Amino acid sequence: MAKVKAQDVDFNNLGFEYLDLPYRYQATFKDGKWQDKGLVAESNVVINEDSPALHYGQAAFEGLKAYRTKDDQIQLFRPDQNAQRLQNSCERMLMPQVPTDMFIDAAKQVVKANEDFVPPYGNGATLYLRPIIMGVGGIIGVHPAQEYIFRIFAMPVGNYFKGGLTPTNFTTSQYDRAAHKGTGQSKVGGNYAASLMPGEQAHKNGFSDCVYLDPVNHEKIEEVGSANFFGITKDGTFVTPKSPSILPSVTKYSLLYLAEHELNMPTEQGDVYVNDLDRFAEAGACGTAAVISPIGGLEHNGNLHVFYSETEVGPVTKKLYDILTGIQFGDRKGPDGWIEVVK
Ligand SMILES: *Cc1c(COP(=O)(O)O)cnc(C)c1O
Repeated sequence: MAKVKAQDVDFNNLGFEYLDLPYRYQATFKDGKWQDKGLVAESNVVINEDSPALHYGQAAFEGLKAYRTKDDQIQLFRPDQNAQRLQNSCERMLMPQVPTDMFIDAAKQVVKANEDFVPPYGNGATLYLRPIIMGVGGIIGVHPAQEYIFRIFAMPVGNYFKGGLTPTNFTTSQYDRAAHKGTGQSKVGGNYAASLMPGEQAHKNGFSDCVYLDPVNHEKIEEVGSANFFGITKDGTFVTPKSPSILPSVTKYSLLYLAEHELNMPTEQGDVYVNDLDRFAEAGACGTAAVISPIGGLEHNGNLHVFYSETEVGPVTKKLYDILTGIQFGDRKGPDGWIEVVK
């Protein structure tokens, strides 16, 4: 694959596409410790055919972004939270944990080495970082691997859902992405494997993505496959579903905090019944990639429930978006410890 040059990237028209940048970070876990740590140019990973990552899905990933501020500083948003969540995913998948300082150092090295690809301040584009860890080689029975590769690569991105801050429609799915006592809380490929078919069906039917319902009774909203769900009730409460099979979104927890502390809104993590959507004035999907993507309408059993509007973002969603992205791009001060400057 040919390496892309920064001068050939159109930073004003980025979608969410892979690009082969000059550098990525790689480390190998062997003989009980992380070794051979550092930047590499090669984007291909050569692993043995018997790797548990390939057969049994012993792998996990993360997603975070580097933001360029108005005064040309580059910063990460709560990378310690991604490090911690990867540690939790690794624990569930019986993989060695990447220590938080190693994770943050690796992320910074990748950003620094690909600095020219951090989009200019101003249109919401960012450098997306994708950390991955996989069990490789040496075993064909169903057991955890003896060796692991940890890697972080990067690419400049724009909107994940094509609408950006313009609402798009979503549909509920008859499928489940994860079980209550399965791996829904871990950011692992297996959950995504289960979501590929329902996701493609949703796209084919003109929706941005599907919304999964609780895997027990299909009555309560869980999340959006790659983003968490939130709603703003008609009396101004920020509500987000609570379930053991939801991926704990850093963006979601940040919004819970900001809604409460910046907008003085009551917040609630609880049941969101799909047959009781009239209680909401607005709804959205939130995640690192999705940022905040307003949900115009949600289709369920053939009926489209429109929240605020199919064409315009609601006022509370817009406020939350401005506060969150304001902090991420350095235009406002966030809570202590949320921003990590890349020097
Ligand atoms: C990554 C992810 C999210 C969003 O989490 P953030 O930490 O906010 O990026 C939501 N749902 C799923 C299933 C995810 O994999």
